[in-house]
Amino acid sequence: MIDLHLHTDRCGHARGTMQQYIARARELGLIAIGFADHIPMYWLPPGQRDPELAMPQEQFGDYVREVLDWRDKCPDIGIYLGVEADFQVGYEDVLTGLIKTHPLDYVLGSIHFIDGWGFDNPALRDEYARHDPDELYESYFALVEQAVASGLFDSMAHVDLLKKFAFWPRRPLTHLYQRLAGLMAQADVCVELNTAGLRVPANEMYPAVELLRACFQHCVPVTLGSDAHAPEQVGWEFGRAINLLREVGYGEITYFVGRRRFCRRLP
Ligand code: ZN
Ligand code: FE
Ligand code: FE
Ligand code: ZN
Repeated sequence: MIDLHLHTDRCGHARGTMQQYIARARELGLIAIGFADHIPMYWLPPGQRDPELAMPQEQFGDYVREVLDWRDKCPDIGIYLGVEADFQVGYEDVLTGLIKTHPLDYVLGSIHFIDGWGFDNPALRDEYARHDPDELYESYFALVEQAVASGLFDSMAHVDLLKKFAFWPRRPLTHLYQRLAGLMAQADVCVELNTAGLRVPANEMYPAVELLRACFQHCVPVTLGSDAHAPEQVGWEFGRAINLLREVGYGEITYFVGRRRFCRRLP
């Protein structure tokens, strides 16, 4: 299998070197992995960037070189160069510039902030109490839709991350799911099946099964990621993920080389 969502100690909140991640991937018999460390916080002035959320900008080049180095040294396993990039309204050109500077294989798009609130940060969890759940889901998915439409991303990571702390909506989200899946198909963006949701209070993968089904019905290709923040999380619960993909109807997963799409049949 292919795990396209790995974070290393370069991001300031994950543990493990690329070498350790590669060793674990080999142990598991993965055919390929992709590093997707958090892109520098390009939407903030350098002085306001949190070194525990993403690598500093001056280290982006080193990150890229290190991945390419390991790729050369490890012909037995596919190693792809990715990045997880926050979508920030109004900073699309800055992100485009940053992406273009490096020979990336793919860019995972994600939303971790609503009006500056890092809603997936455990330290800021109290803020949920100040919101109406249904309104918050509407605002969150509006941002996801903008990210999808931006054309900046190859696959949308943990596309319903807002459920992380089990702050569930009161109403069904069917209308949002249908609209999003349609938009993703139109924009030709993949959806990520991310097993990290099984490690947090939500206790289910991202996205919700209903949204994954909507994506399948709209022919949105799927990528697979553990969102590992430690080497032992590589390929986390991939057995369950593959079973779910099959149940929903998917027969293959997608990966990228030089931002071109390829696919691999499920085992
Ligand atoms: Zn992270
Ligand atoms: Fe993320
Ligand atoms: Fe991640
Ligand atoms: Zn992530």
